[in-house]
Amino acid sequence: MKAVRYHGPRTPFRLEDVPVPEPGPGEVRVRVEAAGVCHTELHFESGLLDLGIAPITMGHEIAGTVESVGSGVTTRQPGDRVIIYYYTGCGRCEWCERGEENLCATPRAELGFISDGGYAEYVVAPARNTVSLPDTLPFADAAPIGCGVTTALHACGLAHVSSGDTVVVYGMGGVGYGLVQIARLRGARVIGIGRSREKLALASELGADAVVNASQVDDVAAQVRALTDGRGADVVFELVATEATMSASTAMLSRHGRLVFVGYSKDAFTVHPIQLVILEAQVLGSVGNTLAELEEAVRLVAEGTVRTVVDRVLPLESYSTALQELREGRVVGRVVLAPGGDR
Ligand SMILES: [Zn+2]
Ligand SMILES: [Zn+2]
Repeated sequence: MKAVRYHGPRTPFRLEDVPVPEPGPGEVRVRVEAAGVCHTELHFESGLLDLGIAPITMGHEIAGTVESVGSGVTTRQPGDRVIIYYYTGCGRCEWCERGEENLCATPRAELGFISDGGYAEYVVAPARNTVSLPDTLPFADAAPIGCGVTTALHACGLAHVSSGDTVVVYGMGGVGYGLVQIARLRGARVIGIGRSREKLALASELGADAVVNASQVDDVAAQVRALTDGRGADVVFELVATEATMSASTAMLSRHGRLVFVGYSKDAFTVHPIQLVILEAQVLGSVGNTLAELEEAVRLVAEGTVRTVVDRVLPLESYSTALQELREGRVVGRVVLAPGGDR
């Protein structure tokens, strides 16, 4: 089968022929219908994210149809429409026991990170990692739930976003659009920050109460202060995390403000402690999501409460176009790869 493979840092991905994987006991083989392209893939290619395991097939936002099941699988059958939870924890550590597989230090698999993911015609995963998709939800719209919406749900939980908070979403990509909608759902007032008019217009359409175009404003933090009567933001989600955005993000925090890193760049975060001390501010990191959050995210999208944003659907062979467009900031939401073409 065809698969887009990672061969180590600073090496372009390659489209290759690899054997169709066999499902082992407790596993299912899924025919991949749609796989979302995330910024993480750019970080693998650039070498910023180097987990030391290669070659592997990329792709962690995976929706498809169960094609066959391994021995002992009773919960799934061929034809089931599913989305895949990409972490498989050890199942024994304190984090796994709490359902926080995203924090497991010795995971058995992490699709598209340390094991084969969904930029391929087929992928194998434990049956327990599959979440049912309703027939009404097209695969291309479902795939970006896997990381985009679910990671947003996780980060909102960590930051305790609640009614009356002012929440800044700094960076308008797949996770950013998820954050705008979920923060609104929790009763927060949302300010979106980005550099593209088109992306910000969509943020407004999805519920952002105000937007700031960072390419047209000298002092983004001052703009947020002006929008909050000088008070600042209770929560700032950092999806860009360059030196410039991190300094602005810190400067726009309110008292008891929470700065939450979801994204990262090559830049380090430097802050004078007094900036945090006098505000009693908190700095948090947020990684991935849990299986329970994926189930919740599917429910939110299925019932129409949250929308995924698909820029376009491309064949698997066009993966490099997808990455190039994303790298150059021309993608609104997600590009989704369809390894099986239109079927
Ligand atoms: Zn992702
Ligand atoms: Zn574990």
